[in-house]
Amino acid sequence: GKKQVGVLGLGRMGAALAGALLGAGHDVVVWNRSPLKAGPLVDRGARLAATPAEAASADVVLSCLSTYDIQQPVLEAASPKVLVNLTSGTPAEARSAAAWASSAGIDYVDGVIMAVPQGIGTAQSRILYGGSPTAFSAQREVLSVLGEPVFLGEDAGLAALYDLALLGIMWSTMAGYLQALALVGTEGVAPAAFTPMALSWLSAVGGFLPGIGAQVASGEYATDVSALDINAAGLGLLVETSRAQGIDASVPAAVRELFDRAVASGHGAHAIASVIEEIR
Ligand code: NDP
Repeated sequence: GKKQVGVLGLGRMGAALAGALLGAGHDVVVWNRSPLKAGPLVDRGARLAATPAEAASADVVLSCLSTYDIQQPVLEAASPKVLVNLTSGTPAEARSAAAWASSAGIDYVDGVIMAVPQGIGTAQSRILYGGSPTAFSAQREVLSVLGEPVFLGEDAGLAALYDLALLGIMWSTMAGYLQALALVGTEGVAPAAFTPMALSWLSAVGGFLPGIGAQVASGEYATDVSALDINAAGLGLLVETSRAQGIDASVPAAVRELFDRAVASGHGAHAIASVIEEIR
């Protein structure tokens, strides 16, 4: 049968989670600090709990609040049997929440949502989990409603680590794209004209990742494609041109500084993958 699911937190994300669960026919009980936000969900059949504890009497409880610090007192008041924590934080915060849950006798899974609220319940949504394997298996069907569930292992901090690693790729990609738009924009090129080229370039760049990963794994940085010193020089041209065109150059300058240090450490003739030695 369908499970009773409690949802703590009805911000943009929590409301999307509760909505998807309702859509899948689950019995959903919700709690939020500002109860008015529950209105649309109640109209769709959710029950509004007056306290976190009332929502936590459900078979499984999902929590999605702004931060771990905000969440902790809510969790202590709720005291659920099984908790799937979907609030974003650091691996250390996730591990300390898991330690608290264990001491409170709560079966704990820590998840990170690799989607925006509008993507929840669609094929564009993937959620990474770590923590109790038994709780994850038991709740797999409920969690599948939200997005493709991926279990990373028993370490409750792993999902947060993956989250930050993946978001780091997103943020540096977006910063690079914005730098590019600003740069071509200095000559009147509109985003709509440039973006298709950026997209196909990004997929070509993505094609290099497995090779870079293999070099990082082996520690063998020989290249007959493109040496680091040529790339560092190219970054120098980007910094120089950004400044000459009157725009900020801090993003390429930061990457250039890192590449230059790797060159100075003796990696000039190596592949870009060798920069990881400097990062480490
Ligand atoms: P919102 O700002 O929309 O919602 C924040 C939630 O936290 C609301 O339920 C809010 O309650 C509650 N809250 C804030 N302060 C307090 C407090 N002092 N006491 C009790 N409750 C409080 O954020 P999102 O829903 O977007 O994000 C929630 C979590 O989901 C974050 O950790 C975020 O990183 C993560 N996430 C969000 C994604 C997104 O695209 N939005 C993507 C992936 C993860 P109230 O309604 O009363 O203000």
